[in-house]
Amino acid sequence: MEKGMQTYLTRMGSKLPDSVSRPKSLPITMSSVFDFEDVEMLDQVYAGDAPGYIYSRNGNPVHDALKEIMSQIDGGEASGVYASGMAAITLSILAHVEAGDHIVAANVLYGGTYSLLKNELKRFNIDVTFVTPTIESITEAVRQNTRLLYVETISNPMMDVVDLDKMVEVCKESGIKLIVDNTFATAVVCRPLTLGADVVVYSATKYICGHSDVTGGIVVTQKREEMEKIEGIAALYGPMMSPFDAWLLVRSLRTLELRVRQHSHNAMQMASYLEKHPKVEKVYYPGLAKSATHEIGKKLFQKELFGGMLSFDLIGGEAAAYQLIRDLENIRLVPSLAGVSTTLSYPAKTSHRALDDQELKQAGISKGTLRLSSGLEDFNDIMAEFEMALNKLP
Ligand code: PLP
Repeated sequence: MEKGMQTYLTRMGSKLPDSVSRPKSLPITMSSVFDFEDVEMLDQVYAGDAPGYIYSRNGNPVHDALKEIMSQIDGGEASGVYASGMAAITLSILAHVEAGDHIVAANVLYGGTYSLLKNELKRFNIDVTFVTPTIESITEAVRQNTRLLYVETISNPMMDVVDLDKMVEVCKESGIKLIVDNTFATAVVCRPLTLGADVVVYSATKYICGHSDVTGGIVVTQKREEMEKIEGIAALYGPMMSPFDAWLLVRSLRTLELRVRQHSHNAMQMASYLEKHPKVEKVYYPGLAKSATHEIGKKLFQKELFGGMLSFDLIGGEAAAYQLIRDLENIRLVPSLAGVSTTLSYPAKTSHRALDDQELKQAGISKGTLRLSSGLEDFNDIMAEFEMALNKLP
């Protein structure tokens, strides 16, 4: 050894392979920072005059690969990738408001988003009005200082489809931005940006990942300038996605369409089965002809798919919900969704536990409501397990 061992430990092993062939899969650039030959080169990259990366909080090659795919499938000019869905939602909202501004939001939303809007934004002196998302109620709620409307394509957990055409219309008329959480639908089922929305947000933890092994969030914007505002504050608040998680999500996206098709087909069959079951009071799935928002789904959704999520009320209420969860062996209680296997969630104690009884009632969530995330299994096996457990209910 000519140099000290510690010197070899720090310097060796980072040479890039000398190869005329390229790796078939995207390499993971697990580097928090990048090195430069000289100050002039660093300066050129900072100025955007030379291609390159500086610091992974501001950009990383794997982030860029993920952003490229997301912008393409969602039909946006630019994307941003963050550490969680809540980070993506928080940043896209904060980029559009200042202290003293006002937001209009749908009254049925993912519980975390609802709490952010209702409680957290108060600290920034930002006021929020929650409304049933119709043209009339939004028009009535909009004020001079309203900056944006926030909705989910398919509401959680009642699975109502929001009429995005109408949301676009009312936002354009009122001169405010439209942010849509498209987590439940994904770009396979619905592409809100192509309908005229300004910003689409995702909990990538769900279908974009699809394997229950990544927590992440993604924003896609119709216009690049919109994304620049979001990226500007993202670099300051700092909830960036790990390059490894970005790599996993790129891999997951390769099968997004196949997965969402199968999730949706299983959900459709499951909803039809549950609808006829004597122990079930009501099924909430936009693919059902009876669903209050079926026609809106038919108008907005692609490929006759209605997504993989449904909810249902058990006639036996809370006791029946608890017993069904206990009696199902392979269908597990999981407070998330969109994994490969079918799972159940109990909204009143999971995604919507921050809501008080009055708010739960307003959102249509009862103590007998269960939310089901359809997996990729053979449908007959899911149905057989439900049949066994439902028939045990008193
Ligand atoms: N949006 C929806 C519709 C969700 O269901 C969730 C989480 O369940 C989120 C946003 C928040 O995403 P994350 O848990 O990745 O922060």
